Amino acid sequence: MKSENYILDLDNTLYDYKVPHNIAIKRVLSNFSDEFGIGIDKSEKIFRAARKKTQEQLVNTAASHNRLLYFQKMLELNNINSLDYAMKYYDIYWDTFLENMKLFEDARLFLEKIKTSGCGVCILTDLTAHIQYRKIQKLGLSRFVDFMVTSEEVGVEKPNPKMFKIALYKLNCDPKQTIMIGDNWEKDIIGASAVGLKAIWMNHDKDSRELPDGVIEVENFEEINQL
Ligand SMILES: [Mg+2]
Repeated sequence: MKSENYILDLDNTLYDYKVPHNIAIKRVLSNFSDEFGIGIDKSEKIFRAARKKTQEQLVNTAASHNRLLYFQKMLELNNINSLDYAMKYYDIYWDTFLENMKLFEDARLFLEKIKTSGCGVCILTDLTAHIQYRKIQKLGLSRFVDFMVTSEEVGVEKPNPKMFKIALYKLNCDPKQTIMIGDNWEKDIIGASAVGLKAIWMNHDKDSRELPDGVIEVENFEEINQL
C-alpha cells in the first residue's frame, strides 16, 4: 500500500508510549508520596481517581488529557493547595517522559523513505499543542513532517471527521491519495475509514478485528517498509 500523502498518529504509533509514561508517573507519585507521607499504593489510587474524574468532565476535548489538570485534581482530592505543587509535578512528568521517549527505528526509516519520495506528511493527534510540539522536537520529527493537527486546535477529538478533514485541508489533498497510520482502532482506523481514507492499523497488541475495505494491519513499521 503506497500513497502520495500520509496522516500519522503520534502517541504509541511513532514511539512506545507505555515505557516513558510508566517511568514518568512513577517519579511523580513517589515524589507526591514522600512529600505528603501517603503510601505509594494509595497515591496511585488517588491519581487514577483524579484522572478518571478529569476525563469524565472533559470528554472529547484535548484538555481531558492535560496532566496539569490531573495533578491539580489529585492534590485537591487530598485537600492540598494545588498552586504549590501541580506545576511542579507537571514538569517532572513531562521532563521525565521526554527524556525516556524514543522514536521507533523502523518508523524513522519509514519517514525518511516517504519524505525522499516527496509525500506530504501530517501528524494528527489528540492532545494539547504545546506538549505535542515538545515531543516533535525531542523526536526530531520536524524534518519529516509538514503539518500537525491537534485536537486542541480543532476543538474535538478523533474519530470526529473534522479532525481528518482539517489534516486533508492542510495537505491540500484528496482522501483517495492519502493513508492514515495509527494504533487506535476506533480513533485512527474507524475515523479514517469514515472519511474515505485508506488506513494501516499499527496493531502492536495483536488484537483480533475484522478489517473493513481499504484497511490493512501490521505490527510495526518494518512491515510497512516492505509493502
Ligand atoms: Mg495513538
